[in-house]
Amino acid sequence: MSRLIPNRWYDKIWHIPVKDLADIGIKGVIVDLDNTLVPWKKDPSHASQETKEWLKKAQDAGMDICIVSNGGSSRVQSFAAELGIKAVAGVPKPRRTPFLRAMSLMGTSPKETAVIGDQLFTDILGGNRAGCYTILVTPHDEKEFFYTRLVRILERKVKERLQKKGAFPERKVNGDENL
Ligand SMILES: [Mg+2]
Repeated sequence: MSRLIPNRWYDKIWHIPVKDLADIGIKGVIVDLDNTLVPWKKDPSHASQETKEWLKKAQDAGMDICIVSNGGSSRVQSFAAELGIKAVAGVPKPRRTPFLRAMSLMGTSPKETAVIGDQLFTDILGGNRAGCYTILVTPHDEKEFFYTRLVRILERKVKERLQKKGAFPERKVNGDENL
């Protein structure tokens, strides 16, 4: 169950202090697409200004960025092209393969790579299995696959159990307060 524990939990991607990532030697960032960068199934125009600014800030700090998504390949690739970042799709998370592919595209080692996503059983489990630094974010909205909605029930139970043991990180909404 420890592989389901993220290193950090922020409400939204733009709450993650880029400086904190740089300080621990992160050079590549793997990001989930649906409900992390944009609300479920939305196109790139739905990426918020804060999200775009955060991606730019990470790039300015010298970080490479790659989407790893279980979504359809052509949508994921066009999304990445629009945002000027890399992408890997077609092999489902939590398998390690898509994470390893993303690291090879970015030329980073697991220790130099952060994984950001909204699901414990895909993003966080896969990122931890690949040996990366993992960051959970709160999903954008309630609209999801029926299957994902079922998974959320189990996810909540796991989270509550880990929280009771004091093994789950606190959710932070403002990165700066913890710098
Ligand atoms: Mg997601």
